[in-house]
Amino acid sequence: MEEKQSCFPLPKVELHVHLDGSFRPETIIHFAKKRRIQIPADTVDGLLQIISYEKPLSLTEFLAKFSYYMPAIAGDREAIRRVAYEFVEMKAKEGVAYVEVRYSPHFLANSKVEPIPWGQTEGDITPDDVVDLVNQGLREAEKSFNIKARSILCCMRHMPNWSLEVLELCKKYHNDTVVAIDLAGDESLNCEAAPGHRKAYEEAVRCGIHRTVHAGEVGPPSVVKEAVEVLKAERIGHGYHTIEDPILYQELLDRNMHFETCPWSSYLTGACDPDFTKHPVIQFRKDKANYSLNTDDPLIFRSTLDVDYAIAVKHMDFTEEEFKRVNINAARSCFLPEKEKKALLSQLYKAYDMELSTGL
Ligand code: ZN
Repeated sequence: MEEKQSCFPLPKVELHVHLDGSFRPETIIHFAKKRRIQIPADTVDGLLQIISYEKPLSLTEFLAKFSYYMPAIAGDREAIRRVAYEFVEMKAKEGVAYVEVRYSPHFLANSKVEPIPWGQTEGDITPDDVVDLVNQGLREAEKSFNIKARSILCCMRHMPNWSLEVLELCKKYHNDTVVAIDLAGDESLNCEAAPGHRKAYEEAVRCGIHRTVHAGEVGPPSVVKEAVEVLKAERIGHGYHTIEDPILYQELLDRNMHFETCPWSSYLTGACDPDFTKHPVIQFRKDKANYSLNTDDPLIFRSTLDVDYAIAVKHMDFTEEEFKRVNINAARSCFLPEKEKKALLSQLYKAYDMELSTGL
Protein backbone atom coordinates (compact mmCIF):
# COMPACT_ATOMS: atom_id res chain seq x y z
CA MET A 1 0.00 0.00 0.00
CA GLU A 2 3.05 2.26 0.28
CA GLU A 3 3.41 2.05 -3.49
CA LYS A 4 0.64 4.44 -4.48
CA GLN A 5 1.27 8.13 -4.95
CA SER A 6 1.51 9.89 -1.60
CA CYS A 7 -0.58 13.02 -0.89
CA PHE A 8 2.52 14.74 0.43
CA PRO A 9 5.67 13.06 -0.88
CA LEU A 10 8.05 15.15 1.24
CA PRO A 11 9.66 14.39 4.64
CA LYS A 12 7.08 14.22 7.43
CA VAL A 13 7.07 14.33 11.24
CA GLU A 14 4.80 12.05 13.27
CA LEU A 15 4.30 12.65 16.97
CA HIS A 16 1.38 10.44 18.01
CA VAL A 17 1.60 6.75 17.20
CA HIS A 18 1.49 3.71 19.48
CA LEU A 19 4.08 0.96 19.04
CA ASP A 20 1.61 -1.67 20.22
CA GLY A 21 -0.92 -0.39 17.68
CA SER A 22 1.61 -0.70 14.84
CA PHE A 23 2.86 -4.30 14.76
CA ARG A 24 3.02 -6.14 11.44
CA PRO A 25 0.36 -8.89 11.37
CA GLU A 26 2.98 -11.28 9.90
CA THR A 27 5.17 -10.70 12.96
CA ILE A 28 2.29 -11.35 15.38
CA ILE A 29 1.58 -14.67 13.61
CA HIS A 30 5.28 -15.61 13.54
CA PHE A 31 5.78 -15.16 17.28
CA ALA A 32 2.41 -16.71 18.19
CA LYS A 33 3.47 -19.87 16.31
CA LYS A 34 6.98 -19.84 17.68
CA ARG A 35 5.83 -19.33 21.27
CA ARG A 36 2.77 -21.58 20.91
CA ILE A 37 0.48 -18.76 21.95
CA GLN A 38 -3.16 -18.91 20.93
CA ILE A 39 -4.33 -16.01 18.73
CA PRO A 40 -7.69 -15.93 16.94
CA ALA A 41 -6.35 -16.55 13.39
CA ASP A 42 -3.20 -17.86 11.71
CA THR A 43 -3.33 -15.94 8.41
CA VAL A 44 -2.76 -12.23 7.85
CA ASP A 45 -6.23 -11.73 6.36
CA GLY A 46 -7.90 -13.78 9.07
CA LEU A 47 -6.09 -11.86 11.79
CA LEU A 48 -6.85 -8.46 10.25
CA GLN A 49 -10.55 -9.40 10.03
CA ILE A 50 -10.56 -9.69 13.81
CA ILE A 51 -8.10 -7.09 15.08
CA SER A 52 -8.64 -4.25 12.61
CA TYR A 53 -11.75 -2.41 11.47
CA GLU A 54 -12.97 0.32 9.13
CA LYS A 55 -16.32 1.35 10.61
CA PRO A 56 -16.68 3.09 14.01
CA LEU A 57 -16.73 0.92 17.15
CA SER A 58 -17.05 1.73 20.83
CA LEU A 59 -13.97 2.37 22.95
CA THR A 60 -14.49 -0.94 24.78
CA GLU A 61 -14.59 -2.82 21.46
CA PHE A 62 -11.50 -0.91 20.28
CA LEU A 63 -9.53 -1.71 23.46
CA ALA A 64 -10.53 -5.39 23.22
CA LYS A 65 -8.55 -5.63 19.94
CA PHE A 66 -5.22 -5.40 21.79
CA SER A 67 -5.95 -8.41 23.97
CA TYR A 68 -6.19 -10.64 20.86
CA TYR A 69 -2.62 -10.10 19.73
CA MET A 70 -0.54 -8.56 22.53
CA PRO A 71 0.21 -11.96 24.17
CA ALA A 72 2.13 -12.98 21.01
CA ILE A 73 4.64 -10.15 21.46
CA ALA A 74 4.63 -9.23 25.17
CA GLY A 75 7.28 -10.90 27.29
CA ASP A 76 9.57 -12.00 24.44
CA ARG A 77 12.95 -10.32 23.94
CA GLU A 78 13.31 -11.03 20.25
CA ALA A 79 9.68 -10.03 19.51
CA ILE A 80 9.96 -6.69 21.34
CA ARG A 81 13.21 -5.76 19.63
CA ARG A 82 11.79 -6.78 16.27
CA VAL A 83 8.51 -4.82 16.50
CA ALA A 84 10.48 -1.68 17.35
CA TYR A 85 12.80 -2.25 14.40
CA GLU A 86 9.95 -2.96 11.98
CA PHE A 87 8.01 0.07 13.19
CA VAL A 88 10.86 2.37 12.13
CA GLU A 89 11.19 0.55 8.82
CA MET A 90 7.47 1.11 8.17
CA LYS A 91 7.68 4.82 9.01
CA ALA A 92 10.72 5.26 6.75
CA LYS A 93 8.67 3.78 3.88
CA GLU A 94 5.91 6.30 4.62
CA GLY A 95 8.40 9.15 4.16
CA VAL A 96 8.67 10.05 7.85
CA ALA A 97 11.90 11.87 8.74
CA TYR A 98 11.30 11.97 12.49
CA VAL A 99 8.90 9.95 14.64
CA GLU A 100 8.08 9.82 18.34
CA VAL A 101 6.62 6.38 19.09
CA ARG A 102 4.84 5.70 22.37
CA TYR A 103 4.06 2.58 24.40
CA SER A 104 3.42 1.31 27.90
CA PRO A 105 6.53 -0.60 29.07
CA HIS A 106 4.26 -2.53 31.45
CA PHE A 107 2.03 -3.83 28.65
CA LEU A 108 5.00 -5.55 26.98
CA ALA A 109 6.49 -6.97 30.20
CA ASN A 110 5.72 -10.18 32.08
CA SER A 111 7.81 -9.77 35.22
CA LYS A 112 7.60 -7.40 38.20
CA VAL A 113 4.29 -6.06 36.88
CA GLU A 114 1.20 -6.19 39.03
CA PRO A 115 -1.07 -7.48 37.56
CA ILE A 116 0.76 -9.18 34.66
CA PRO A 117 -1.00 -7.87 31.53
CA TRP A 118 -2.93 -10.02 29.04
CA GLY A 119 -3.26 -12.87 31.53
CA GLN A 120 0.24 -14.07 30.65
CA THR A 121 2.22 -16.35 32.89
CA GLU A 122 5.10 -14.80 34.80
CA GLY A 123 8.36 -14.56 32.82
CA ASP A 124 11.59 -12.63 33.15
CA ILE A 125 10.99 -9.42 31.14
CA THR A 126 10.58 -6.36 33.34
CA PRO A 127 9.33 -2.93 32.14
CA ASP A 128 12.98 -1.78 32.32
CA ASP A 129 14.02 -4.66 30.00
CA VAL A 130 11.20 -3.66 27.62
CA VAL A 131 12.53 -0.09 27.30
CA ASP A 132 16.05 -1.38 26.73
CA LEU A 133 14.85 -3.82 24.03
CA VAL A 134 12.70 -1.22 22.27
CA ASN A 135 15.69 1.16 22.34
CA GLN A 136 17.89 -1.48 20.69
CA GLY A 137 15.32 -2.01 17.92
CA LEU A 138 14.83 1.71 17.34
CA ARG A 139 18.55 2.48 17.22
CA GLU A 140 19.37 -0.39 14.90
CA ALA A 141 16.57 0.64 12.50
CA GLU A 142 17.59 4.31 12.60
CA LYS A 143 20.93 3.25 11.13
CA SER A 144 19.36 0.94 8.53
CA PHE A 145 16.69 3.35 7.28
CA ASN A 146 18.12 6.83 7.72
CA ILE A 147 15.32 8.17 9.91
CA LYS A 148 15.25 9.58 13.42
CA ALA A 149 13.12 7.77 16.03
CA ARG A 150 12.53 8.67 19.66
CA SER A 151 10.11 7.23 22.21
CA ILE A 152 7.51 8.31 24.76
CA LEU A 153 6.63 6.09 27.72
CA CYS A 154 2.92 5.81 28.58
CA CYS A 155 1.28 5.78 31.97
CA MET A 156 -2.14 4.12 31.85
CA ARG A 157 -5.19 5.87 33.32
CA HIS A 158 -6.52 2.70 34.98
CA MET A 159 -3.12 1.85 36.53
CA PRO A 160 -1.93 4.87 38.60
CA ASN A 161 0.37 2.56 40.57
CA TRP A 162 2.53 2.05 37.43
CA SER A 163 3.10 5.75 36.82
CA LEU A 164 6.02 6.42 39.16
CA GLU A 165 7.89 3.49 37.65
CA VAL A 166 7.19 4.90 34.17
CA LEU A 167 8.68 8.20 35.34
CA GLU A 168 11.76 6.43 36.73
CA LEU A 169 12.25 4.77 33.31
CA CYS A 170 11.90 8.17 31.59
CA LYS A 171 14.68 9.45 33.87
CA LYS A 172 16.92 6.42 33.40
CA TYR A 173 16.64 6.50 29.60
CA HIS A 174 16.31 10.28 29.20
CA ASN A 175 17.33 11.15 25.62
CA ASP A 176 18.50 7.56 25.22
CA THR A 177 15.59 7.36 22.77
CA VAL A 178 13.08 8.25 25.55
CA VAL A 179 12.04 11.91 25.31
CA ALA A 180 8.74 12.20 27.22
CA ILE A 181 5.99 10.78 29.40
CA ASP A 182 2.35 10.27 28.29
CA LEU A 183 -0.93 9.35 29.95
CA ALA A 184 -3.13 7.06 27.85
CA GLY A 185 -6.22 4.92 28.31
CA ASP A 186 -9.88 5.46 29.07
CA GLU A 187 -10.56 9.18 29.58
CA SER A 188 -13.92 8.52 31.18
CA LEU A 189 -12.00 7.33 34.26
CA ASN A 190 -11.20 11.01 34.72
CA CYS A 191 -8.29 10.30 37.04
CA GLU A 192 -5.70 12.95 36.07
CA ALA A 193 -5.60 13.90 39.72
CA ALA A 194 -4.89 10.32 40.92
CA PRO A 195 -1.83 10.65 43.18
CA GLY A 196 0.26 8.21 41.08
CA HIS A 197 -0.22 10.16 37.84
CA ARG A 198 0.10 13.56 39.51
CA LYS A 199 3.31 12.68 41.34
CA ALA A 200 4.84 11.20 38.17
CA TYR A 201 4.06 14.37 36.20
CA GLU A 202 5.26 16.68 39.00
CA GLU A 203 8.53 14.80 39.07
CA ALA A 204 8.71 14.95 35.25
CA VAL A 205 8.47 18.76 35.42
CA ARG A 206 11.19 18.82 38.09
CA CYS A 207 13.53 16.61 36.04
CA GLY A 208 12.97 18.30 32.68
CA ILE A 209 11.11 15.31 31.17
CA HIS A 210 8.70 16.44 28.44
CA ARG A 211 4.99 15.79 28.91
CA THR A 212 2.06 14.93 26.69
CA VAL A 213 -1.39 13.67 27.77
CA HIS A 214 -4.24 12.01 25.85
CA ALA A 215 -7.10 14.42 26.55
CA GLY A 216 -10.26 15.72 24.89
CA GLU A 217 -10.28 12.79 22.48
CA VAL A 218 -13.62 11.43 23.63
CA GLY A 219 -13.55 13.24 26.97
CA PRO A 220 -14.84 16.77 27.67
CA PRO A 221 -12.74 19.99 27.72
CA SER A 222 -12.36 19.63 31.50
CA VAL A 223 -9.97 16.68 30.91
CA VAL A 224 -7.83 18.92 28.67
CA LYS A 225 -7.89 21.67 31.30
CA GLU A 226 -6.69 19.23 33.98
CA ALA A 227 -3.99 17.88 31.66
CA VAL A 228 -2.64 21.40 31.16
CA GLU A 229 -3.16 22.79 34.65
CA VAL A 230 -2.55 19.76 36.88
CA LEU A 231 -0.20 17.60 34.79
CA LYS A 232 1.51 20.53 33.02
CA ALA A 233 1.14 18.89 29.62
CA GLU A 234 3.18 20.56 26.86
CA ARG A 235 1.22 18.79 24.13
CA ILE A 236 -2.28 17.36 24.00
CA GLY A 237 -2.99 13.97 22.45
CA HIS A 238 -6.02 14.57 20.18
CA GLY A 239 -7.68 17.46 22.06
CA TYR A 240 -10.69 17.69 19.70
CA HIS A 241 -13.24 18.54 22.38
CA THR A 242 -11.20 21.53 23.55
CA ILE A 243 -13.12 23.64 21.03
CA GLU A 244 -16.34 23.10 23.02
CA ASP A 245 -14.90 25.43 25.70
CA PRO A 246 -14.12 28.64 23.78
CA ILE A 247 -12.28 30.25 26.72
CA LEU A 248 -10.00 27.25 27.21
CA TYR A 249 -9.52 26.90 23.45
CA GLN A 250 -8.50 30.55 23.09
CA GLU A 251 -6.14 30.22 26.04
CA LEU A 252 -4.44 27.21 24.44
CA LEU A 253 -4.25 28.98 21.07
CA ASP A 254 -2.56 31.91 22.82
CA ARG A 255 -0.10 29.53 24.48
CA ASN A 256 0.58 27.85 21.12
CA MET A 257 -0.35 24.47 22.62
CA HIS A 258 0.28 21.60 20.22
CA PHE A 259 -2.61 19.24 19.40
CA GLU A 260 -1.58 15.78 18.14
CA THR A 261 -4.56 15.06 15.88
CA CYS A 262 -5.39 11.70 14.31
CA PRO A 263 -8.33 12.15 11.87
CA TRP A 264 -8.90 8.53 10.75
CA SER A 265 -8.51 7.28 14.33
CA SER A 266 -11.05 9.86 15.56
CA TYR A 267 -13.58 8.57 13.02
CA LEU A 268 -13.14 4.91 13.98
CA THR A 269 -13.20 5.49 17.74
CA GLY A 270 -16.26 7.73 17.44
CA ALA A 271 -14.32 10.59 19.05
CA CYS A 272 -15.74 13.14 16.58
CA ASP A 273 -18.70 13.64 14.28
CA PRO A 274 -18.29 11.03 11.51
CA ASP A 275 -18.73 13.81 8.95
CA PHE A 276 -15.13 14.88 8.27
CA THR A 277 -16.29 18.27 7.00
CA LYS A 278 -17.24 19.06 10.63
CA HIS A 279 -13.97 17.79 12.09
CA PRO A 280 -12.19 19.95 14.73
CA VAL A 281 -9.06 19.86 12.53
CA ILE A 282 -10.92 22.25 10.20
CA GLN A 283 -11.34 24.69 13.08
CA PHE A 284 -7.69 24.22 14.07
CA ARG A 285 -6.67 24.93 10.51
CA LYS A 286 -8.83 28.04 10.25
CA ASP A 287 -7.41 29.38 13.52
CA LYS A 288 -3.83 28.57 12.49
CA ALA A 289 -3.54 26.41 15.61
CA ASN A 290 -0.41 24.40 16.32
CA TYR A 291 -1.28 20.78 15.41
CA SER A 292 0.03 17.72 13.62
CA LEU A 293 -1.49 14.82 11.65
CA ASN A 294 -0.83 11.32 12.98
CA THR A 295 -1.94 7.68 12.64
CA ASP A 296 -2.36 6.63 16.33
CA ASP A 297 -2.84 2.84 15.81
CA PRO A 298 -2.25 1.98 12.13
CA LEU A 299 -2.51 -1.80 12.62
CA ILE A 300 -5.99 -1.59 14.13
CA PHE A 301 -7.13 1.16 11.76
CA ARG A 302 -5.60 -0.57 8.69
CA SER A 303 -3.92 2.69 7.80
CA THR A 304 -0.74 4.50 6.92
CA LEU A 305 0.07 8.16 7.48
CA ASP A 306 -1.09 8.80 3.94
CA VAL A 307 -4.65 7.75 4.89
CA ASP A 308 -4.82 10.70 7.31
CA TYR A 309 -3.28 13.03 4.75
CA ALA A 310 -5.75 11.82 2.11
CA ILE A 311 -8.68 12.61 4.44
CA ALA A 312 -7.25 16.09 4.92
CA VAL A 313 -7.09 16.58 1.14
CA LYS A 314 -10.48 15.07 0.35
CA HIS A 315 -12.62 16.50 3.15
CA MET A 316 -10.66 19.43 4.58
CA ASP A 317 -9.26 21.12 1.46
CA PHE A 318 -5.66 20.75 2.56
CA THR A 319 -3.02 22.12 0.22
CA GLU A 320 0.69 21.39 0.09
CA GLU A 321 1.19 24.66 1.95
CA GLU A 322 -0.91 23.45 4.90
CA PHE A 323 0.91 20.11 5.01
CA LYS A 324 4.21 21.99 5.18
CA ARG A 325 2.87 24.17 7.99
CA VAL A 326 1.59 21.13 9.93
CA ASN A 327 4.93 19.34 9.66
CA ILE A 328 6.97 22.41 10.58
CA ASN A 329 4.72 22.85 13.62
CA ALA A 330 5.19 19.19 14.53
CA ALA A 331 8.98 19.62 14.30
CA ARG A 332 8.83 22.80 16.41
CA SER A 333 6.73 20.99 19.03
CA CYS A 334 8.71 17.76 19.07
CA PHE A 335 10.54 16.69 22.21
CA LEU A 336 14.07 16.53 20.79
CA PRO A 337 16.79 18.55 22.54
CA GLU A 338 17.03 22.08 21.02
CA LYS A 339 20.08 21.39 18.87
CA GLU A 340 18.58 18.29 17.27
CA LYS A 341 15.26 20.07 16.83
CA LYS A 342 17.01 22.85 14.91
CA ALA A 343 18.71 20.26 12.68
CA LEU A 344 15.34 18.61 11.99
CA LEU A 345 13.77 21.98 11.17
CA SER A 346 16.53 22.86 8.73
CA GLN A 347 16.15 19.43 7.10
CA LEU A 348 12.44 20.17 6.55
CA TYR A 349 12.97 23.76 5.36
CA LYS A 350 15.48 22.49 2.84
CA ALA A 351 13.21 19.69 1.61
CA TYR A 352 10.27 22.11 1.41
CA ASP A 353 12.33 24.64 -0.48
CA MET A 354 11.67 27.27 2.16
CA GLU A 355 13.80 29.91 3.80
CA LEU A 356 14.56 29.33 7.48
CA SER A 357 13.02 32.68 8.27
CA THR A 358 9.66 31.88 6.61
CA GLY A 359 7.13 32.19 9.40
CA LEU A 360 4.26 29.99 8.14
ZN1 ZN B 1 -3.13 7.63 21.21
